[in-house]
Amino acid sequence: MKETVNILDFLPEELEEYINPMFRVKQIYQWIYQKYADNFLEMTSLPKNLREKLNENYHFNPLKIIYKEQSKDGSIKYLFELKDGLRIESVLLPMKEEKFDEKGVKIAHAKYTICVSSQVGCKSGCSFCLTAKGGLKRNLSAGEIVAQILCIKKDNQIPYERRVNIVYMGMGEPLDNLNNVSKAIKILSHNDGLCISPRRQTVSTSGLANQIKKLGEMNLGVLLAISLHAVNDTLRNELMPINKAYNIASIMQAVREFPIDQRKRVMFEYLLIDNINDKIDHAKELVKLLNGIKAKVNLILFNPHEGSFYKRPNLENAIKFQDYISSKGITCTIRESKGLDISAACGQLKERKKNELA
Ligand code: SF4
Repeated sequence: MKETVNILDFLPEELEEYINPMFRVKQIYQWIYQKYADNFLEMTSLPKNLREKLNENYHFNPLKIIYKEQSKDGSIKYLFELKDGLRIESVLLPMKEEKFDEKGVKIAHAKYTICVSSQVGCKSGCSFCLTAKGGLKRNLSAGEIVAQILCIKKDNQIPYERRVNIVYMGMGEPLDNLNNVSKAIKILSHNDGLCISPRRQTVSTSGLANQIKKLGEMNLGVLLAISLHAVNDTLRNELMPINKAYNIASIMQAVREFPIDQRKRVMFEYLLIDNINDKIDHAKELVKLLNGIKAKVNLILFNPHEGSFYKRPNLENAIKFQDYISSKGITCTIRESKGLDISAACGQLKERKKNELA
């Protein structure tokens, strides 16, 4: 069978080279991203010969759902298979439930965040992460990143105009695949597509300082999250070997120079691990590091996997840590363990299902 090209890999201006006039490209974009078409042949506003030509040469389903699991808190974890048989994960996280008035009329829509993968595997080698264990297999193309959001919105019948937040925080280090991630950001925010503003898209990095700088220079308007997890280089080198290449000082410098909307803040993710980095002295160091940065801190309670050396911190310590940070005027949240019962930390579902679904 003839191999077809993933049309989700293209921005409209790139497609114009192959498909014209431009308004046809616009229509195709709308069929795919706004009307959630299943195939080219049903795009009835296009001439029949164009539909057939598209069908012969392109596809827009680079992912197959091979498993999905819903947690008690409503989050849904997806295991996708790519065309080459490799597998990635994404998660749909409901952030707010829909609301109805006393007459049963809907007054507020549900809000969602979708957490997407940017690579198959990862080479960053974080010691607490299952994805790290298998190393990097390959980068995802822009279209494979975009497909995760399209597929999840479609599967949950979330209308295209209902905005979702995107976090590049699944498998992989997004800044190690900057070209494709930045292209996915542009495709996702396109007006004829899913129309997800860059301000709703957060790139979460383990701290590749030079790439943070490059992302900043692109001026896409995206938000930035740093997986910090430690407040000194000795501990961070141990938890995240990438720190040996980009130490904490270089990351902080890159963050200070990153262009960000005045009303927004840089998110610092801090994985609290029992007896490793969850003491008040660590909180004090963290406050010092964030001096002068418009920051907010998200504490994540470590979600242990089988055979894990690290332990989940106790909630009392986590709350003391949070109170200290907040008392210094920095917004600090503790992330609810969404999806704990379905292994929501990156790489865990894939690992668990590897043998069962092989
Ligand atoms: S935590 Fe993220 S950056 Fe670190 S190894 Fe895992 S996937 Fe890579």
